[in-house]
Amino acid sequence: MPRQSLTQAATRLSRRLGQLARVSEDRGATTRTFMSPAMHRANALVGGWMRGAGLSVRVDPTGNLIGRTGAPAKGAKTLLMGSHLDTVRDAGRFDGALGVLLPIAALEVVRSRGLTFPFAVEVLGFSEEEGVRFSSGYLGSKGYVGRLGKSDLRLRDCWGISVGEVLAKNNGGRFSPPGPAHAATELIGYLEVHIEQGPVLEARGLAAGVVSGIAGQTRARIEFGGKAGHAGTTPMPLRKDALAGAAEFILAAEAAARARPPLVATVGQVLARPGAANVIAGAAELTLDVRHPVDAGRRAACTDLRKAGRGIAKRRGLTFCMEVTQDNGAVPCSGELTALLARSVRGREGRCVALASGAGHDAVIVSSLAPVAMLFVRCRGGISHHPGEFVARRDLEAALWIVVDFLSRLASRQSE
Ligand SMILES: [Zn+2]
Repeated sequence: MPRQSLTQAATRLSRRLGQLARVSEDRGATTRTFMSPAMHRANALVGGWMRGAGLSVRVDPTGNLIGRTGAPAKGAKTLLMGSHLDTVRDAGRFDGALGVLLPIAALEVVRSRGLTFPFAVEVLGFSEEEGVRFSSGYLGSKGYVGRLGKSDLRLRDCWGISVGEVLAKNNGGRFSPPGPAHAATELIGYLEVHIEQGPVLEARGLAAGVVSGIAGQTRARIEFGGKAGHAGTTPMPLRKDALAGAAEFILAAEAAARARPPLVATVGQVLARPGAANVIAGAAELTLDVRHPVDAGRRAACTDLRKAGRGIAKRRGLTFCMEVTQDNGAVPCSGELTALLARSVRGREGRCVALASGAGHDAVIVSSLAPVAMLFVRCRGGISHHPGEFVARRDLEAALWIVVDFLSRLASRQSE
């Protein structure tokens, strides 16, 4: 294999990101949801690139794509690198995909230079992180670390199909949640490369930075129950309008978060039933997403919002139900791995900033199995979850340089 320059590798990486973005379940847009035909095609495409980089490839029962280098010696530890291959609807080409394709590119560079490491590397393309289909994320990484629970399997999509049913169909009719892919003692750690999804690196003029920790996140499904009725004949005082109750709750959540920075609270989905212009809503379902860098702050906010919902329902004669579908504590990144990564960032950029991540990442789940570190890469305007997502090619090259350097530093640390 001829020695590959980083510029060549970055150009190829950029081309592959474009190719992968065209693998979609929606015509003219990038959308890949859990276990969709597009996800199977994405696994086949990326799996081919993994094989080309010399990795042995498999797909696990949860649909995760796993590529692994040969172990250099018996008992050698493993470094995990990866991110997710699923996307939001009408997504950009970098969120998730970058964290899977960049490690493959880095390993190609390493191989072309004839470098060897005293550890194995496993590149992971998780099958589900965004929570689009089942409004609860991390199904892929949970399967990988052995934390896919009964409550996850019971989640249903908008057609009423459960996660358990989808997984059974993809595993020859039967699925039981797998145990962890590795014992914790086999692992060095997990490195996730991800676009920043925010404007800080751009403002500081840096191509990349390290992540200090990831904010905790609670997601809940809320339902206000009222009474459907005729929009023309039901007098206002006699109504039990579930959607009006939901509207009041949405504003209460916004006000609560505004009053307590850095708390953020979002209602991103509302479903009114029966859902007709001339019918008072008899039921309103909504999603709630609450995040805070400190767990106590997030928990207090959730308790208060539950109280607020009950109060609104009581005043309006409605029923109220709030079911937590996802609850992840704040995750600190590994001090040791992050310090090593920061050295690589400084080696390229001259300085290094550490950012707190407001967005959740697969690293949250993998942290239950291994110490985690994250590299954020500058993205234009902080735009994400949108086709306008953009990372400059020279920033891809910088991130590649940093990851290759990190691997070499880790190699010299491991052989000490
Ligand atoms: Zn992501």
